[in-house]
Amino acid sequence: MVDQSFERFDDPVDGTVWQIDAEFLTSNWTCIWGKGCKGILPEDAEHLNQGCCSHGAQFLDVEESMNTGALAMMLEPERFQYYDEAQAGGIYADEERTLTRTVDGACIFHNRPGFAGGEGCALHLAALDEDESPTTWKPSVCWQLPLRAEDQPDGSRVLRHWARTDWDDEKSTIAWCCTEEPEPYVGETSVIESLEEELTAIVGPEVYVAIRKRLG
Ligand code: SF4
Repeated sequence: MVDQSFERFDDPVDGTVWQIDAEFLTSNWTCIWGKGCKGILPEDAEHLNQGCCSHGAQFLDVEESMNTGALAMMLEPERFQYYDEAQAGGIYADEERTLTRTVDGACIFHNRPGFAGGEGCALHLAALDEDESPTTWKPSVCWQLPLRAEDQPDGSRVLRHWARTDWDDEKSTIAWCCTEEPEPYVGETSVIESLEEELTAIVGPEVYVAIRKRLG
C-alpha cells in the first residue's frame, strides 16, 4: 500500500489542470487478476476469480452504454458464456441502461472459471480476437480500474487510485482492496510504464509525456 501524494500537471492542449497521485503512479502496483486477486466481495473470494467484476459496470454516458450494447450483440456464444441470457434479457441492469446487469453473482460479461471460451471479460477477449485494444471495447470504468479520474468543483481533475471507500457506497465492506494491500505491489515496472495505454487515454498524450518526464 502507498500513501497518496499529488503533483500538478497542466494540459497544454485543453488547459485542464490535473492533480496526479505521484506515489501510486511511481509504485510497482500491478493487476494480479488470476494470480492472487481476492476480489471485491465482503469475503476473500480468490476461488471465484471475479476480480472487480462482481458488480455491474457503470457506464460513463449514453454513448458508452449504447456502444457496449451494440458490441454485445456481436459477441459469439463461444466467447460469451452468458450469450443466451444476453439475447433473452439484454445486458442492462436498469431501464435507463446506466450499468451492466449481473448474472449468477457477477457482471454478465464475466466468463466464469472453467468456461471453454476463456475466463474473464468476454468483451476483453473479443477485442483481443480482433487485434484491437480492450480499451475500445470495455466500459471505461473496467479498463481504467484501479485508476480513477474525478472532476473537482474548481474545474481541475484528480487522477488517483481506487480506494476501499470508493466501493463502499452502501456502507457495505469489501474484504480486500487491491490498492490497499501488499500483494499487488509486485510489478516489474512502475504504473507509469505498465499502464501507459490507459494513462494516455485518460490524461491525453501531452500530459502522459510530462508525467513520464517528471516522474518516470
Ligand atoms: S484491478 Fe484489482 S480487483 Fe480488479 S482484477 Fe486487478 S487486482 Fe483484482
